[in-house]
Amino acid sequence: MTNQKKLVLDFLRRDTSHPTAEAVWENVKKQLPQISRATVYRILDNFQKEGVIRVLETKPTRFDGQIEPHQHFICNNCGKIFDLKEEKVCRCLRDGSNMVSVGKVHSFNVNFYGLCQNCQTESDDNLNNKL
Ligand SMILES: [Zn+2]
Ligand SMILES: [Zn+2]
Repeated sequence: MTNQKKLVLDFLRRDTSHPTAEAVWENVKKQLPQISRATVYRILDNFQKEGVIRVLETKPTRFDGQIEPHQHFICNNCGKIFDLKEEKVCRCLRDGSNMVSVGKVHSFNVNFYGLCQNCQTESDDNLNNKL
């Protein structure tokens, strides 16, 4: 593995914010100023094909260096994406996937949408200010 690829993968394994390709480039550039945007995009593309990272079908596309099975919570307000590893939720989804009648489920990908804790407090504050 080249040094460039290693830096990109290291960053994605460490970072839990599900960065966009642009954000990956911005961060890797700090350590490797000469790396081009095109190179980072190509590396991400290859990683995706090799299955060493996960790709989130958001707009813009985001990347996830955590490849063990987990679902996502996406905040409708700030757009942050959180890893969801609650055992109860996981078990429920696993059990549910056995009940699908149209075929046999090999994997699943579920997104939860709502307000993150931070945005919840903010909207509570706004509400209190209005009252
Ligand atoms: Zn939020
Ligand atoms: Zn994730």
